[in-house]
Amino acid sequence: MNYISTRGAAPALDFGQAMLTGLARDGGLYVPAEMPHMPAGEISALAGLSYEEAAFRVMRPFIGDSFADDELQALISQAYAGFGHAARAPLKQLAPGHFLLELFHGPTLAFKDFAMQLIGQLFQAALARSGERVTIIGATSGDTGSAAIEAFRGLGNVDVFILFPQGRVSEVQRQQMTTPADANVHAIAVEGDFDTCQRLVKEMFNDFTFRDRVRLAGVNSINWARVLAQVVYYFTAAVALGAPHRAVSFTVPTGNFGDVFAGSIARAMGLPVERLVVATNQNDILHRCLSTGEYRTERVMPSISPSMDIQVSSNFERALFQAYGQDGNAVAQLMEELREAGRFTVSQGALEGLRAIYASGRVSEDETRATIARTLSATGELLCPHSAVGVAVAEAQFAARPGPVPMVTLATAHPAKFPDAVEDATGIRPPLPARMADLFERPERLTDMADDRAALQALIVERTGH
Ligand SMILES: *Cc1c(COP(=O)(O)O)cnc(C)c1O
Repeated sequence: MNYISTRGAAPALDFGQAMLTGLARDGGLYVPAEMPHMPAGEISALAGLSYEEAAFRVMRPFIGDSFADDELQALISQAYAGFGHAARAPLKQLAPGHFLLELFHGPTLAFKDFAMQLIGQLFQAALARSGERVTIIGATSGDTGSAAIEAFRGLGNVDVFILFPQGRVSEVQRQQMTTPADANVHAIAVEGDFDTCQRLVKEMFNDFTFRDRVRLAGVNSINWARVLAQVVYYFTAAVALGAPHRAVSFTVPTGNFGDVFAGSIARAMGLPVERLVVATNQNDILHRCLSTGEYRTERVMPSISPSMDIQVSSNFERALFQAYGQDGNAVAQLMEELREAGRFTVSQGALEGLRAIYASGRVSEDETRATIARTLSATGELLCPHSAVGVAVAEAQFAARPGPVPMVTLATAHPAKFPDAVEDATGIRPPLPARMADLFERPERLTDMADDRAALQALIVERTGH
């Protein structure tokens, strides 16, 4: 299986290379050159399998020769062994036809553990083979960073640097990033917002001298291996609800578009997904773009769902690449326009292509809080604010287009990861699961930095000894 860049000007890579590279050298993102098809019989056969076995079957065709079957199976088992639920991604019913897919039973209580725990195992196996040592750099609005640190801490061939916006992540998120004592973990608090962090990371990747010197590898949601790991739970959830004989829709709390894009891969492989609904908070660039065709960045407005506080949604580029018929030049032009003018307009044809797959909705802060309260009283479930954005948008979809197709809303984080917002909405402060109850007693370790790429690069060189 070959992977090609969304900007059409970087070399094609195999799975292992695309995973270790992250961002392509032309600034684009790697996508599979062709889409493996999963026949209905193979989809039916997923029913009743363990999550790990389903993961192996869904991901196998994308991995090619990069990992042998038995090795891949062992790495998948290892990745999900630390989850706090035997089903890994259990479904819960909220209302007739409306289900919640709980993706928060991993070690850092957010869905990013699904991809990150696996990618940690895959990196370790690939690097142990080649004897290489790499530097992982990621930007986070909170959950990616803690998931990456948890996945890579203590690994011999990896240093991990995580940039997060100072003062803009929740206490739990910060503690999860700053308390691991492993020497290969470096948490960096940057003056600025998430987009500042993301820009610094992109610039470091585009500085090829630096990139090669410290052997940069990216594990942000642009990394194809992360998207792939997230395809799996669309299959397990849909099959549990009757796929391939019955279609299913999904509503996905969205920021960088990695999670919902994984849903589009499942759909392209043959899973009967009727609609993928992009749910945004007040930072609604994706909802505006899908509504009007204009993709225009605005200033980030901090919200109670901070992991969705973005204005540039990196993985949307992959959806554009598909909507433009895999025309890398067209995508490169849009991205150039975005860099220069902060906006671009999607062509009519491409917009229709996007709307055939994606619907969208936006939720205000007040509606988010009201949804947390309403869901608690109707079902007894406590939602995190991100999941509540999803539930609110899914309910609006039901009201606008009632029908027999079940809706699955992805619950992307555990309520205890955002206790202030949940308490504010309900009066109940959700406790941390017992396995992390002492989080706030552990000592913190972090480095404060200005928005200064040169200083950051100097720090990375010094800490890694490259
Ligand atoms: C990262 C994250 C999101 C957004 O996911 P994307 O793949 O970036 O769209 C939503 N909710 C939570 C809790 C997250 O951590």
